Amino acid sequence: MEFEPVIGLEVHVQMATKTKCFCSCKVEYGAEPNTNVCPVCMALPGSLPVLNKKALEYAVKASLALNCEVHNLSVFARKNYFYPDLPKGYQISQYDKPLATNGYIDIKVDGKTERIRIHRLHMEEDAGKTIHQGQYSYVDLNRAGTPLMEIVSEPDIHSPVGARLYLEKLRNIMRYIGVSDADMEKGQLRCDVNISLREKGSDKFGTKVEIKNINSFRFVQKAIEYEIERQAKILRKGGEIVQETRLFDEKTGKTFSMRSKEEAHDYRYFPDPDLIPVRITQEYINSIKEALPELPDEKEKRYVEQLKLTEYDAEVLVADKDRALFFEKAVETYPQNPKSIANWIINELLGKLNEEGIQIQDSPVKPEHIAQIVQLIDKGDISSKIAKQVFEEVFKTGKEPIKVVEEKGLKQVSDEGQIKQIIQEIIDKHPEEVEKYKAGNKKLLGFFVGQVMKATKGKANPKLVNQLLSKVLEG
Ligand code: ADP
Ligand code: MG
Ligand code: ZN
Repeated sequence: MEFEPVIGLEVHVQMATKTKCFCSCKVEYGAEPNTNVCPVCMALPGSLPVLNKKALEYAVKASLALNCEVHNLSVFARKNYFYPDLPKGYQISQYDKPLATNGYIDIKVDGKTERIRIHRLHMEEDAGKTIHQGQYSYVDLNRAGTPLMEIVSEPDIHSPVGARLYLEKLRNIMRYIGVSDADMEKGQLRCDVNISLREKGSDKFGTKVEIKNINSFRFVQKAIEYEIERQAKILRKGGEIVQETRLFDEKTGKTFSMRSKEEAHDYRYFPDPDLIPVRITQEYINSIKEALPELPDEKEKRYVEQLKLTEYDAEVLVADKDRALFFEKAVETYPQNPKSIANWIINELLGKLNEEGIQIQDSPVKPEHIAQIVQLIDKGDISSKIAKQVFEEVFKTGKEPIKVVEEKGLKQVSDEGQIKQIIQEIIDKHPEEVEKYKAGNKKLLGFFVGQVMKATKGKANPKLVNQLLSKVLEG
């Protein structure tokens, strides 16, 4: 029997607000424990939460960027459970009236576009952290009350790589709109994976397993790959999948059971009486929508349709916001040849940056430099071969390409008289080859071109050399 995996993701994204969701404490990564706390986030009796406007704005922004319907009325609810790093005994979240529903993200798997629907996006607060050290456990409440969005997908993903692409796209969108760095290593993006198998072609769902707290894109893919194998083995033997929560072990690459359905929480959700319902006007929603920046899908489309890039090139460029902005800056400087600019960034710059472990925003080769190199080639001032040399030098020194060309005397020789003279010298030196050429061995043209290029250290304009050589040899 052939199985098809059915996968739905629940993703938490930490919003990049300066202060917490319901108090004015700072949100700060790596601060001294319990230094960013106040009566509200420590849950002292009598303290009252007040919603951070910026958190609401960011959540609306994200909802719209994910093509969701944003509701004019949403309600905060208490999700009750006990844990030492949750001093209130409940987490403020949203339950039956979330901020937004019904969105989607398009991903491209093997060149085919797949639409992954988003079930809902709601706001909630983060818990604190429990740190175990020796025989003691410590509680750090710095993170308690940090604003999060929970983004729940429909079970529309059908491959491990699809899950990874969905997450990467989600992270990119968050970065484009500036609501979160969504850095998985810093816990700014956390992902729970729900996965079941079904017989290929069937439209019924199988029993699902939830894998919690996977902390890298690679591990998400790996955990799913492992889980598909595990479930398939059970089903092939005629066994049944137990609905449970599992954890992923990075060292073994396996998942293991954490708790079964019977041990699952009943959170006893109810509307939080301390917080008024969130009412937002359509004008407010529209104003945020209008202010959204160009998103990766729109950029990709524009690069292909207006700038005539290949789909592949456009995709590579928009996969990272800073990369896209770098490209656009270069095109702004020299709008005549976006295709060549894209080639230089993708084929030369990205590899070099990767080798040196440098982020594109810190690149010693600036967008203006790439623009200038392409312009120098287009003008015939340097050949593409020399351009690579110039690029290397600019990467090393940060000097302007034009300066490098001047200082090193790399300018292409396009002076007819000068080239003719060199051609004559070479012809005089190789009478035998000239004979053979004239007798019909036209392949020897390449030999003569090579000799001229050698004599000029690669600086002669190759097109001109070809033209002049043919003329002289035929004449
Ligand atoms: P729960 O109530 O157990 O949290 P939900 O219906 O809220 O389940 O769904 C949680 C996540 O699990 C969603 O992302 C959803 O797409 C996914 N999901 C639901 N059913 C299945 C299934 N049979 N197989 C895989 N994923 C599923
Ligand atoms: Mg759930
Ligand atoms: Zn506080």
